[in-house]
Amino acid sequence: HSKELGGNQFNFYVTEMNQRTERRMLLESKLRDALSKQAFTLCYQPKWNTQSLRIAGVEALIRWFDPEEGFISPAEFIPLAEDCGLIGEIDDWVARQACRDILSLYEGAEPELSLAVNLSPALFVNEDVYRRIAGTLEQTGFPAHKLELEVTETLVVSEVASVHEQLSKIRQLGVEIAIDDFGVAYSSLSRLKQLPLNTLKIDRSFIQDIGSDQDDEVIVRTIIDMAHNLNLKVVAEGVETEQQYQFVKRHHCNLVQGYLFSKPVPLAELARLLQQQSCSREPLASIPHR
Ligand code: C2E
Ligand code: MG
Ligand code: MG
Ligand code: MG
Repeated sequence: HSKELGGNQFNFYVTEMNQRTERRMLLESKLRDALSKQAFTLCYQPKWNTQSLRIAGVEALIRWFDPEEGFISPAEFIPLAEDCGLIGEIDDWVARQACRDILSLYEGAEPELSLAVNLSPALFVNEDVYRRIAGTLEQTGFPAHKLELEVTETLVVSEVASVHEQLSKIRQLGVEIAIDDFGVAYSSLSRLKQLPLNTLKIDRSFIQDIGSDQDDEVIVRTIIDMAHNLNLKVVAEGVETEQQYQFVKRHHCNLVQGYLFSKPVPLAELARLLQQQSCSREPLASIPHR
């Protein structure tokens, strides 16, 4: 009997594996198609300065709508794009489009906002990140010091020996570097101190448990203090409740980003938020549910 059960379980795994492989193959071919047909769009999520309570910057986030599959999450297709070598093209497109979008809001004048784009750590393996970023700045005319690259903490702990050198070259352009999803990959303090960084973004998982998990509150406080001691700015990402916001603000976190303030929105909606803000003297007045 147990043998029979084992056999069934084996078949179950094989079926599940096949389904996953099929899904990957399907998405991979759709991904190539999407790139050539320009089927991606961008959303922008504002980051609020906790002192001025104004929008200090935005993060560009890619969106992919497929007619058959509906919206496919970047959490699913970015890793796939990394595996099949399409990530360079995708991240180039995002950076170029985002720079043009933000410039268009200021009609070519210097943007007041800083623009953050996510950069896959996989790009550092080929050592062509500098060329890609320099190319984007040149093609769009976007001011380098208003551009910020978000790379996940996995890059800090990666084996790629030239990470430091590559980041330094990018920093020399004037572009800023933020470490995304900070706190989950256990990077060492000495490594953090070595790298030419500007900002740490505390991973959402720590922010989420503020108010219910005292350990996470200690972690958040510790990350903020540590970052400030290393002369880094701090962003709390995934702020969803007033309590979470008050906590990080009380501990001098510089910027907040999350659904409490705004979801990622299309460019036209971002323009409206900025417009509202510039018409009003009330900080945070543009936030509907406040
Ligand atoms: P990330 O860079 O850490 O971006 C933050 C993610 O958290 C976004 O998900 C955002 O929509 C979501 N988020 C923001 N505030 C809240 C909140 O209050 N609550 C919750 N539950 N979620 C919140 P999204 O857009 O689905 O992106 C997921 C990940 O995919 C990103 O994480 C990033 O790692 C990657 N990604 C997105 N766009 C790009 C891109 O253009 N290039 C690359 N290489 N990666 C990208
Ligand atoms: Mg990010
Ligand atoms: Mg993040
Ligand atoms: Mg994340």
